[in-house]
Amino acid sequence: MSLQVPPPATERSPVLSCVIPLYNEAETIQLSLDRLHAVLDPLGHRFELVFVDDGSKDNSAELLVRAAEQDTTIRLVQLSRNFGKEAALTAGLDYARGDAVIIMDADLQDPPELIPEMLEHWQAGADVVLMQRRTREGETWLKKASAHLYYRLLRRLSQCDIPTDTGDFRLMSRRAVDALKQLSERNRYMKGLFAWIGMPTVVLLYDRQPRAAGQTKWGYFGLIQLAIQGITSFSIAPLRLATTSGLIAASLGALFGLWIVLKALVLDTSPPGYPSLIAIISFLGGIQLLSIGIVGEYVGRTYIESKQRPNYLVKGVVGETDSPDRPEADPDTPRSKTVPGNHHV
Ligand code: UDP
Ligand code: MG
Repeated sequence: MSLQVPPPATERSPVLSCVIPLYNEAETIQLSLDRLHAVLDPLGHRFELVFVDDGSKDNSAELLVRAAEQDTTIRLVQLSRNFGKEAALTAGLDYARGDAVIIMDADLQDPPELIPEMLEHWQAGADVVLMQRRTREGETWLKKASAHLYYRLLRRLSQCDIPTDTGDFRLMSRRAVDALKQLSERNRYMKGLFAWIGMPTVVLLYDRQPRAAGQTKWGYFGLIQLAIQGITSFSIAPLRLATTSGLIAASLGALFGLWIVLKALVLDTSPPGYPSLIAIISFLGGIQLLSIGIVGEYVGRTYIESKQRPNYLVKGVVGETDSPDRPEADPDTPRSKTVPGNHHV
């Protein structure tokens, strides 16, 4: 594995970055800031709070801009539109400068009070401190059961060990973040990418809290899309499934054909015809459509990948404007600028 050498830590560079993607979270921002400061201030480390505004339509961005006037630990990366949580996370990781980076949700489902314990494990040498849910409070049994089944399936299909019951809440060392930044693919299934890099990992159990306020941004449709994304970006097993089911159907068809011919020759009964014909045709038609669909999923992804578009666009950065990619920010450049993300990482 070729790792980029991390830039030397300067006096100003923070020890810890909290990366917080948010979309329409105005109701929770002040609460998040209060709880983060209550935990982080007494620790005595230099830290930054990297908020990524994923094109919020409420006044989340205004609230953060106003808060940043007083609070120098806030850095706000504003994306040009809603790119989705996976892209927002990528942006946050690109802009985070800390030696350790913690990813958490803006809705306080990931309690900031656990940060000191995560830092202890990092200081003891862990590159990744993974937070695993002990309970999933406030979620329906259907969501729990489908999540459980899905992760089992994903682990079987993909070669890498994508852990169950974990979200994006985790600490990563600078080394792990730099490794992750080398994976510049467009189909970003972050949980899978996190698992792919490996690295010494410590797993901590925690109780995931119900949302502090507001609504979840994931409907069932979004979750199903994420689920398909997860499988197709980490496994080609469905393509193989199309081949195997085709082979099995063809073999069964051949046997059945043989049986009908023998029956006609030996028993001299007239062929029953219609029902069996329809059954076989619709069965084969179904398998064919399914297989074309599976192939289509992969072709589509290859198409999107081949366009090499950036994963996100930044319309402005509030707070210190330098990013790891452009350490010496030109003082003459305006504070709002469009920076394509991730195209040269
Ligand atoms: N989020 C985002 N972009 C989106 C959707 C969600 O940045 O398009 C953020 C959201 O603001 C929150 C986190 O991702 O901080 C998790 O979202 P949510 O709480 O809705 O998901 P859940 O916890 O229900 O899985
Ligand atoms: Mg949430």
